[in-house]
Amino acid sequence: MSELTSTQAPIEEFQMSVSQGHVEIAGGGIGGLTAAAALARRGWTVRLHEANQSIRALGAGIYLWDNGLAVLRALGVEGMATEGAHYGPSIQSRDSQGALIGETPTNTAGSVRVLTVLREKLIAALHYAAVESGVEIVTGSVAVGAEVEGVLRFADGSSRAADLVIAADGVGSQVRESLGLLRRRQALGQRCARLLLPRAAGDVPREIEDNYIEYMSGQRFLLYTPSSSGDLYVALVCPASDLGAMGGHLPKDEWVRSFPALESLIRRLGPVPRWDDFEWVELSKWSAGRVAVIGDAAHAQPPYLGQGGGCAMMSALGLAHAVSESGRSLEGALALWESTERPVIEHTQRFSVRVSELNNVPDDARREILKVAATLPRIGRSRARAASTVPTGMKVPVEVGERFKGWDRLADPSPAI
Ligand SMILES: Cc1cc2nc3c(=O)[nH]c(=O)nc-3n(C[C@H](O)[C@H](O)[C@H](O)COP(=O)(O)OP(=O)(O)OC[C@H]3O[C@@H](n4cnc5c(N)ncnc54)[C@H](O)[C@@H]3O)c2cc1C
Repeated sequence: MSELTSTQAPIEEFQMSVSQGHVEIAGGGIGGLTAAAALARRGWTVRLHEANQSIRALGAGIYLWDNGLAVLRALGVEGMATEGAHYGPSIQSRDSQGALIGETPTNTAGSVRVLTVLREKLIAALHYAAVESGVEIVTGSVAVGAEVEGVLRFADGSSRAADLVIAADGVGSQVRESLGLLRRRQALGQRCARLLLPRAAGDVPREIEDNYIEYMSGQRFLLYTPSSSGDLYVALVCPASDLGAMGGHLPKDEWVRSFPALESLIRRLGPVPRWDDFEWVELSKWSAGRVAVIGDAAHAQPPYLGQGGGCAMMSALGLAHAVSESGRSLEGALALWESTERPVIEHTQRFSVRVSELNNVPDDARREILKVAATLPRIGRSRARAASTVPTGMKVPVEVGERFKGWDRLADPSPAI
């Protein structure tokens, strides 16, 4: 996690001056920090509790689409988060030998805007937004539950009362568990390792080295993601049962066997810090009394659309907007927030789950499905629904509609949902 420096411009004061009440937030990840900054700038006093000893990023790089970028803009930190970002000219699917299956142009006139950055850049920017907005951040503070009257409870036996409590403690959320809201927490049977390494000539052919490329070989995937001029983020995906492909010391011969065209890249990969399960979380309701649940705690999804973080940011900004500016009671505002945000986010989750199911289709059949799907514009529109959504609570107009016209050409395999 990078330190904030005095050269960074202060964020403009939000116009709201009326005191709104007090919020306690569990979790200092993408969702918690976004909610904290957005609420503080709308007149709430905010205390955020992070279990770790510091605010830090897990993972390597991250894809940010227009919806997430709009939230960052609303918080005044888009420039900071995207400094040095990589803008890939297309998203490609390739087979195990490196042959092209499908391609979607990006970041050109008439195509979708997507960029990649190191996760620590994003978290540093959100951390900065929260601190500059007056949020009190308490690290090493482990939340264990909440009460619907507006109480957050901690592992050390203490508790804090608030007008609003937010559970943003990730996919394994203890706070969510204490509320009995869980309808589904489903492991999708796939695991992923994320690694960061310096970019190097020869990893992939020179003419495609700036693209985002998903290589597919049976049930194994390798996602090649340049994330700055010098950083490469590689994600390795395999079935949870594929024990021969996993381990802290990567069994490189196994991965070279699946992706012979990528041997030099695979040989350069370092130790694997962790293997993450892909999970799908749904709640019966996103709030209970004075407690709201956001981000992966409420709506985790497999990362095939690169939208988990974007959805967490949209949901957090929408929540801040609803409870501050809807003019409703807290209960009414929370109901409005859920009815506004949930349809797009659940659509995105379901679409992403459908894409994950394609991993179980044999290579030849998958290639044919991809080709047919590429001819169906509604699939492209369906896939881009979250990315093309203007987040609720934006204070500046966002011109996104035009850019999504080209998205119809996406070679996406999943049926429209
Ligand atoms: C392999 C992979 C690739 C992905 N790629 C992308 C992508 O390209 N683009 C994208 O938008 N999304 C992506 N995502 C999804 C994205 O990472 C998540 O959706 C996002 O991090 C969710 O944010 P969050 O704040 O809800 O949860 P988290 O990021 O998990 O943050 C939760 C925070 O709460 C803290 N915490 C946990 N328990 C407690 C507790 N009891 N008390 C206090 N604090 C606690 C944690 O330490 C952590 O800081 C990817 C996910 C995976 C697994």
